[in-house]
Amino acid sequence: MVVEIDMEPTQQQREQLRQLPSMTNLLDDATVKSWLVDNPRTLVVSALDRAIENARQNVIDSGMPADLAAIIDDARTILQTRAASSIRRVINATGVVLHTGLGRAPLSDAAVKAVTECASGYCNLEFDLESGARGRRVNHVASLLCELTGAEAATVVNNNAAATLMILNTVAQGKGVIVSRGELVEIGGSYRLPDMMRASGAQLCEVGTTNRTRITDYENAIDDNIAALMRVHTSNYRVVGFTQAVEIEELAALGRKHKLPVIDDLGSGALFDLTSIGMGEEPNVRASINAGADLVCFSGDKILGGPQAGIIVGSKNWIDHIERNPLMRTYRVGKMTLAALEATLQNYRDETQAIESIPSLAIMSAPLEALQQRAETLHRMLIKKLPDEDFQVTKAKSAVGGGSYPGRELETFCVTWQPKNKTIDETLKQLRTGTPAVVARAQRERILFDIRTISEKDHRSLADCITSVNNECSM
Ligand SMILES: *Cc1c(COP(=O)(O)O)cnc(C)c1O
Repeated sequence: MVVEIDMEPTQQQREQLRQLPSMTNLLDDATVKSWLVDNPRTLVVSALDRAIENARQNVIDSGMPADLAAIIDDARTILQTRAASSIRRVINATGVVLHTGLGRAPLSDAAVKAVTECASGYCNLEFDLESGARGRRVNHVASLLCELTGAEAATVVNNNAAATLMILNTVAQGKGVIVSRGELVEIGGSYRLPDMMRASGAQLCEVGTTNRTRITDYENAIDDNIAALMRVHTSNYRVVGFTQAVEIEELAALGRKHKLPVIDDLGSGALFDLTSIGMGEEPNVRASINAGADLVCFSGDKILGGPQAGIIVGSKNWIDHIERNPLMRTYRVGKMTLAALEATLQNYRDETQAIESIPSLAIMSAPLEALQQRAETLHRMLIKKLPDEDFQVTKAKSAVGGGSYPGRELETFCVTWQPKNKTIDETLKQLRTGTPAVVARAQRERILFDIRTISEKDHRSLADCITSVNNECSM
């Protein structure tokens, strides 16, 4: 590293720089020698190098001489930070079930097992074991998807944004697609339907108004340039009040009449009617296929509760066209995604099994009494460890998140904490930067740990994190 020195070092600084330990001194130290047991020498030397440089800079900037022990401490931190993973486990105490920032859906045990098996060795990703010939990677999930949705054909891409883009590019490049003005969605900032439409090469043809669109609005806009009709689920907002929207049945009938494909971007993609778990508002895929939509797309990691993926189901003819599109190669999924998706879909063959084994469904449908019990268990654990701190159990509301169930609040229980010795912001930061990281929220001078998204097997490690943050000195 080159250090820019504006001013000549003073006589005293020169003396201090001369007294800094050398690399040879440091490598002779017993502590440093012990690091060499577990760490490659090059990494140790590079950390020491950086620590010496930091010490030199300190002398120049502030005339602060560093001793051997301080430099070794600094080198230890550098070595540890460089070895730590950037992407790591987080305890989600926000209560947001499908938190995009925290990786959306946690995978089921079966999905994790499938991923591990395929990832650690070879697998038949594109290989037909019967014939020994080259196979298609999406075959592993296509027939399951057809069985679960009633569709004729299915394919999978990297996420639902890619699914929309692939559909629009295949069906309507250079042509118009009719969408209601009430459905021009933006999902999490970087996904905006009009931009996606432009990127796909299709032209957006807006009809109706923000609050009311009728079937005649679509019909009047049909001309030779129109290649498709599209419905977009208003995943993360609701238009309420004086409203009117066209149902997918009606749109599908209009499409048939004019021989135009009808696209349904469902966003979340519930695979069955979730009324049974009190979450019936999201449209389900089978209903859309039954209503006559030609192409339906949805995310793998929203309500479905699987890996990040974009699933497209619909008529064989259109799915074949999509698969022949050269862009398909740029959005194809890897073996880990397919393994996780297949295992997740297997669980959907039985609704009861799906609700029990797919974490996002289990988390959404957790009964309030169970949440209260879990909150009380965690609370007892905490007051036992930190009897002088102020912990309480409170009723609160959680959101589903991930662009689904807008405005819907789930009753929940939280353990709340008002730290005695430090500020809320400082405590939240120390929780976030601990191991494992804990992400929580604050409300009225208290920190809320929403029990809904905290797995029972994480109670002990959460209590340990809270204890060590409490004992950490203030910054
Ligand atoms: C979430 C969503 C998308 C984008 O899906 P990703 O899987 O996040 O790429 C597109 N359309 C709708 C309606 C959505 O809700």
